[in-house]
Amino acid sequence: MRIDIFTLFPQLITGYCSESILGIAQKKSLLDVRAHNFREYGIGKHKTVDDAPFGGGAGMVLKPEPIVAAVRAVEPPKPLLYLSPTGRRFDQNYAEELAGLSGFSLLCGRYEGVDERVRTNLVDGEISVGDYVLAGGEAAALVVLEAVGRLLPGVLGNKVSARDESFSHGLLEYPQYTRPATFESQQVPDVLLSGNHERVGRWRTAQSLYRTLCLRPDLIEDRGGLTVEEKILLDEFDLEV
Ligand code: SAM
Repeated sequence: MRIDIFTLFPQLITGYCSESILGIAQKKSLLDVRAHNFREYGIGKHKTVDDAPFGGGAGMVLKPEPIVAAVRAVEPPKPLLYLSPTGRRFDQNYAEELAGLSGFSLLCGRYEGVDERVRTNLVDGEISVGDYVLAGGEAAALVVLEAVGRLLPGVLGNKVSARDESFSHGLLEYPQYTRPATFESQQVPDVLLSGNHERVGRWRTAQSLYRTLCLRPDLIEDRGGLTVEEKILLDEFDLEV
């Protein structure tokens, strides 16, 4: 998969993407991240990329010409998505949609954001990473890159692990434990030491349901509430909300 990022701070992207999972994915040629600095297409000898807003007001707005010139020069993979608080909320489903493409591109804003004509004439969509305002789109781009990158076939060692986690089935993940079996007087649940895989599976599903009911009841509502079987499963492990 090829992912192109248009930014004023390409090193923020390349530095992060050279380490850990994304670094390995690139070394294995599963992922090709290309960061482009649209300041190279800035105007005049100062390579200007921003200007004051028409109509007055605080801050500076990113001019359309450098961004459009950068995109035209590179011809990046489509869709080109602008990172913006006004965009479609990024979530696991959106990450999976993007992971199914052969490539896409991201545009990082700064200051007050981009001239409206970039939004209406250049980009194909917008992504928000949440209802808060960042200083720039780079941190948001890295969120998208990492969430999508780890879903690509071959990137994670264990094929199951990326698809069997919080949100992948509309639920939060069950509690995980590792050695030692007792830590500071706290014991790992007996069922996990039992070797009974069927029961371990039932316990994990019950815990997943319970944790989601407690922490994110909206996710349970989105699934249309609990089924009769799920209620029985919660009872089986004495889990009551
Ligand atoms: N004036 C803009 C507004 O009120 O919607 C906010 C601009 S913000 C200071 C600068 C840049 O950060 C944006 O152009 C966008 O690229 C990025 N950004 C900020 N918050 C974001 C979010 N929640 N999701 C994605 N990108 C965000």
